[in-house]
Amino acid sequence: MKQLFGTFGVRRVANTVLTPEFASEIAAAYGTKVKGTIAVGSDPRTSSEMIKHSVTAGLLSVGCDVVDLGTLPTPALQYGVRKYYDGGIMITASHNPPKYNGLKLLDADGIGTPDDLEEEIEEIYFGKKQQRVTWDKIGKAYKANIIDEYIDEVLKRVDTQAIRDANLKVVVDCGSGAACDTTPYIVRKLGCELTTLNCQPDGAFPGRNPEPTEDNLTDLISVVKATGADIAFAHDGDADRTICIDEKGQFVFGDKSFALVEKAMLEKNNGGKIVTTVATSNAIADIARQNNGEIILTKVGDLVVARKLKDVDGLFGGEENGGLIFPDFVYGRDSGLATAMILEIVAKTGKPLSQLIDELPTYYSEKRKVECADDKKAYVAEKILEETTDYEVDTTDGVKIINDKGWVIIRPSGTEPIYRCFSEAKTPEDAEELVEWGMNLINKYLD
Ligand code: MG
Repeated sequence: MKQLFGTFGVRRVANTVLTPEFASEIAAAYGTKVKGTIAVGSDPRTSSEMIKHSVTAGLLSVGCDVVDLGTLPTPALQYGVRKYYDGGIMITASHNPPKYNGLKLLDADGIGTPDDLEEEIEEIYFGKKQQRVTWDKIGKAYKANIIDEYIDEVLKRVDTQAIRDANLKVVVDCGSGAACDTTPYIVRKLGCELTTLNCQPDGAFPGRNPEPTEDNLTDLISVVKATGADIAFAHDGDADRTICIDEKGQFVFGDKSFALVEKAMLEKNNGGKIVTTVATSNAIADIARQNNGEIILTKVGDLVVARKLKDVDGLFGGEENGGLIFPDFVYGRDSGLATAMILEIVAKTGKPLSQLIDELPTYYSEKRKVECADDKKAYVAEKILEETTDYEVDTTDGVKIINDKGWVIIRPSGTEPIYRCFSEAKTPEDAEELVEWGMNLINKYLD
């Protein structure tokens, strides 16, 4: 059982738990296992430079060479690692508030490190088994640039002429995070009329909270309305997630943009394998069915989806939170290509984004949660399974019960003493009924 790592790396308050000493020891443990040349990069948090120097020192001390790729999106680092390096460490706390920071550790494919490797790293860390080298074997550190290549590779994968010809008005809100040197330049190179908001990197995140939720994007929505823009894009702190605002200033939920890009990818490639999680909308499966696609469902988590995409040679995948994965480019949620692909869809169809979203299958969902002690979680799941033998049940992650109205999934949280309950149906009433049913099932066995 892992003690330090969460769903993607380590995330803590900077300089209290995540100190330079801690970062250096973890990096040395990682370097002891991975070896070779390791790329490091960061988001613009106030603590990122400090942590990066510590991570670099830790890696050098176990004989790794270190390439500093500077401030950049997590997917740009993942692109670089997959192509050129043996591993990577991204210093970021993703969408968390400014006082946090973290380490996202990557394998040689640029995918977040798997559980077994993280367990080995923890064993080295807690046992102080880092293999420090003698003075003449200490690694070398140098700087390199990957951002220009990353941007070029994004542009190669879309119809740049079609986007240019559409003369789109675009607003970009990087939240002062890691996309400041990528997304605005991609949009400009695609010939769009660009307005930027929060596109100066700033670790205090003065413009907005780094998480791209509707509540945090009210300024962006006002700017879309005031400028008459066709579309706007917002990212989280490390720019792996992409959220859109349509031309009416409406927030587009991540499952909608996922479905939109899925449809375009399937049409472009005449079908393919789509990977997502058991908690993602049925709209994804509907679109796959209509467009010669095959759907593969995994446990919840972007790393699981990325790894599955690699294993099955998938075409496209993602999650409902605005994380889109293009496995021929980056084995992780990518913001650059997500932005360019959505611009291509709007340009080529000639339709406003709101209309494109309206044309997608519609489902309604409800989300609830309830406290449940960690030692009770397995018992509750077991009892719910016993009680639902008459239904179609999927146990990929928690218990997903499917009936003719829709589905409800009941999942214990991996990090908190809670159960999550999430339903989806064709009508709001059915979604409500299903979530209530799920909550009743959990409550029945709580005490
Ligand atoms: Mg992120």
